[in-house]
Amino acid sequence: MAVLKEAVGTTEKPLRVAVVGSGPAGFYAAAHLQAATSLTVQVDMFDRLITPWGLVRAGVAPDHPKIKSVSRMFEKFAKRPGFSFHGNVELGRDIEHAELLQHYHAVLYAVGAANDRRLRIAGEDLSGCHAATQFVSWYNGHPDFADERFDLSGTRAVVIGNGNVAIDVARILALSPAELEVTDIADHALEALRASNISEVVVLGRRGPAQAAFTTAELRELGSLADTDVIVDSAEAELDDLGQAWLADHGGDRARANVELLQEYSRRTPRGGHKRIVLRFQTVPVALIGEDRVEGMDIARTVLQAAGDGNIVSRTTAAQERLECGFVLRSIGYLGKPIPGVPFDADRATIHNDHGRVSDPATGQAIPGVYTAGWIKRGPSGVIGTNKKCAQETVDLLLHDVADGVLNTPLREPQQLLETLKERGVHVTDYAAWEAVDAHERGAGEPLGRPRVKLVRHPELIERARNTRD
Ligand code: NAP
Repeated sequence: MAVLKEAVGTTEKPLRVAVVGSGPAGFYAAAHLQAATSLTVQVDMFDRLITPWGLVRAGVAPDHPKIKSVSRMFEKFAKRPGFSFHGNVELGRDIEHAELLQHYHAVLYAVGAANDRRLRIAGEDLSGCHAATQFVSWYNGHPDFADERFDLSGTRAVVIGNGNVAIDVARILALSPAELEVTDIADHALEALRASNISEVVVLGRRGPAQAAFTTAELRELGSLADTDVIVDSAEAELDDLGQAWLADHGGDRARANVELLQEYSRRTPRGGHKRIVLRFQTVPVALIGEDRVEGMDIARTVLQAAGDGNIVSRTTAAQERLECGFVLRSIGYLGKPIPGVPFDADRATIHNDHGRVSDPATGQAIPGVYTAGWIKRGPSGVIGTNKKCAQETVDLLLHDVADGVLNTPLREPQQLLETLKERGVHVTDYAAWEAVDAHERGAGEPLGRPRVKLVRHPELIERARNTRD
């Protein structure tokens, strides 16, 4: 085990921490490190993009500016002494885990969960079936997805899954161009959604209304959309004896509120002439149908069963129906991606860790100086604020390890790493480069009454960053 040779955290010898990932978990971790007033801490944050904020920029729906406003708090942290942002640096391409350890006392991974879960059913790879994560990244202007194409020429879309991402994508498909054009949605998505023919979005949940993972505020928002009817079949909104018993014993406030709301939706009379979001329950896709592209989907009814551990599971029955549709989004959760050299728990799709201390799967021992926070630590759950508590837990352990003198011993100064990156031809961007992009985007949005017009291609982002720095 690497034990520090001398005390760190002094003005002469600051505690040097590399945080990889600039989403909420990374920023909350940086803020918590900066709050350790008894120590002098230097946080260097790395991100593969020039633009910080992770899912706050690339995941949160464009019509949810209030949720995005958390970035104002992150801006304050980013301006504090002892913090540097290094954008356009990709782990595994430009830099390795082992190299970070050569330059920092601690490395904290907050890289999120970049992969999507798959349904593993026939026809899933047909054109017209996509991961919701792709669609979300596309409409939010993530540079990796700027050239994606989504065929919205059919009239019905199907979204599989009952989480908040499913609600987000269903809502974005239903919003009118007038509602979208006042947001920071990427221009290419605005254009495609303007031309969209989709008039009905069917959202499929494999379990019942009580087990839906929606938060009630998001579900309520669907019911208050100006130009969209929300349709719920009254029979599907009703709970059977098992459902009622589960709700009473395990449901919690959110499940109860969701059930009440869904039952209220089921009593509504559709206004007609509007787009429709149809929320279905106890239905699961069994196959996607089509020659070259998706033309329909076979869906089966499910029955609910008690799992013994207090949970309710769904079992697929033989009762099937066919739903015509030309566009399918699977919104069934995210998966973390392994980082070469960092232990990975393949079952949970997270970095192998104990409350944020990265540990060796063979021995269970903590690996000195390696930590994790956010979705890559605990899996893709919770809202943005959940990452605050998660990051604090990790940083508390890190600070405990500083006090115990159990951290990594770096061989070089962080500045040497930046020089190495330069030698490799990596154009590392700083926080000022992001501020230049930010000012440009806001400036472009202002005359249009939009919060910003996003730059969505890597070369134009780099160009903007270069221009203003020169
Ligand atoms: P999620 O909340 O975990 O929901 C995933 C859904 O997919 C569940 O309904 C799950 O059903 C279903 N599912 C999983 N495998 C399936 C399969 N094989 N077939 C059919 N359905 C399947 O995930 P998410 O929607 O991706 O959201 C991730 C996190 O981000 C959540 O914590 C969410 O609250 C958060 N988020 C928040 C907001 C917001 O606050 N506005 C917006 C977006 C995302 P089972 O329950 O039956 O497994």
